[in-house]
Amino acid sequence: MYDWMIVGAGFAGSVLAERIARERNESVLLVDRRPHIAGNAYDHHNEAGLLIHKYGPHIFHTNSEQIFDYLSRFTEWRAYEHRVLAQVDGMLLPVPINLDTVNRLYGLSLTPDEVEAFFASRAEPVSEIKTSEDVIVARVGRDLYEKFFQGYTRKQWGLDPSELDKSVTARVPVRTNRDDRYFGDKFQYMPKQGYTAMFQRMTDHPLISVMLQTDYRDVRDRIPHRRVIYTGPIDEYFDHCYGKLPYRSLRFDHVTKNVERHQPVAVVNYPQTEAYTRVTEYKHLTGQVHPKTSLTYEYPSAEGDPYYPVPRPENQLLFKRYEALARATRDVWFVGRLATYRYYNMDQVVGQALATFERIDSTLSPRTARIAGRGMAAARERLSPGAANGTAVSPRVTAAE
Ligand code: FAD
Ligand code: UDP
Repeated sequence: MYDWMIVGAGFAGSVLAERIARERNESVLLVDRRPHIAGNAYDHHNEAGLLIHKYGPHIFHTNSEQIFDYLSRFTEWRAYEHRVLAQVDGMLLPVPINLDTVNRLYGLSLTPDEVEAFFASRAEPVSEIKTSEDVIVARVGRDLYEKFFQGYTRKQWGLDPSELDKSVTARVPVRTNRDDRYFGDKFQYMPKQGYTAMFQRMTDHPLISVMLQTDYRDVRDRIPHRRVIYTGPIDEYFDHCYGKLPYRSLRFDHVTKNVERHQPVAVVNYPQTEAYTRVTEYKHLTGQVHPKTSLTYEYPSAEGDPYYPVPRPENQLLFKRYEALARATRDVWFVGRLATYRYYNMDQVVGQALATFERIDSTLSPRTARIAGRGMAAARERLSPGAANGTAVSPRVTAAE
């Protein structure tokens, strides 16, 4: 009998496994249907010996010292500031759009104040910013919107930006200075030995058992457990009873080239041409020195593993129906990007998992303790009479933090 079955060994599941085992002394069976831990952040050395990310480029960035400190228990870091160029009108230009983007694209030599006035002169008034189109045209006008956002978004999501919530393109800022970093966060680092090594340390605990290539559906009735943390797609948990919740997928084409360097920065975006959205060259992220180089081409797709929730009002309504079911499901917590249908970065998922642990810990207290040589239930009974049968826990879906 495990105290917990945790479904999914990505950030959400692994952080909760670590917290529950270490802080509550409770046993965890961590299952994942993939053949590896680390979820979408999984990285590995390929046949050429280059460290690559199986599911596309993962760059860690956060403004939260608490989240950074927490992960620092399991990894050293390599300072890395992410830079992206977009191929537009045959040039490689900085994204996010900044002073240099505008000056180079239009052959101008504007100052920061002048570029602000340039944006204002082209911006289209939008009474209420609702969509991913509104947010960009209201800031920089239609020409920059069409060149940098419209084509990329149509490829990435299979939808026009006018059909997507504003939060999608609002992820990418617009700058009037020369700052060409993709992220503005206080902490920008890569785990020094990679993400998978970090997850290995996180889940390396005597009370955590990991079962890979194991689908929850195949073990939920076979392996006894008291409570569940579920980090897979929420609609799948409920057998798609209200219909499928859309998740966007990608096909990753991994290529190794016999050259030392392929492109000037880690990621080049293709908003106007090509079937792929972006090309990543990992050596920029990892700092690895190697005579060859490995790249990933990302081809968006409606079919395949679920990678992105699709933020738009009708999907949110459908999610809410599943969320209501989740709230009525006893002793199961729904956490992470797929189970809470939120377009979260890694640090946000870690924050959500840490906050969920705090709620679990306060709801289920007193904490249990382990006594060597005795059964878990017996030990718990001795320390906290009545608790061995499992306390009825108020069901919950983790809310946005
Ligand atoms: P996941 O990592 O998806 O883990 C869920 C796990 O559950 C999976 O391993 C899955 O196999 C398993 N699972 C699901 N259902 C079952 C089942 N029934 N039985 C068993 N196992 C199951 N974030 C950043 O901060 N920076 C970036 O640069 C960045 N780049 C990204 C690039 C791409 C292409 C993608 C897709 C995402 C990127 N992200 C990035 C987001 C990041 O991947 C997520 O925030 C994070 O990995 C989510 O963690 P999670 O634990 O919620 O989900
Ligand atoms: N985007 C775009 N052009 C770009 C970069 C981003 O249109 O050059 C839009 C696109 O809709 C994308 C969204 O902004 O999906 C968020 O970009 P981000 O780089 O954050 O996407 P992710 O890394 O999560 O795939």
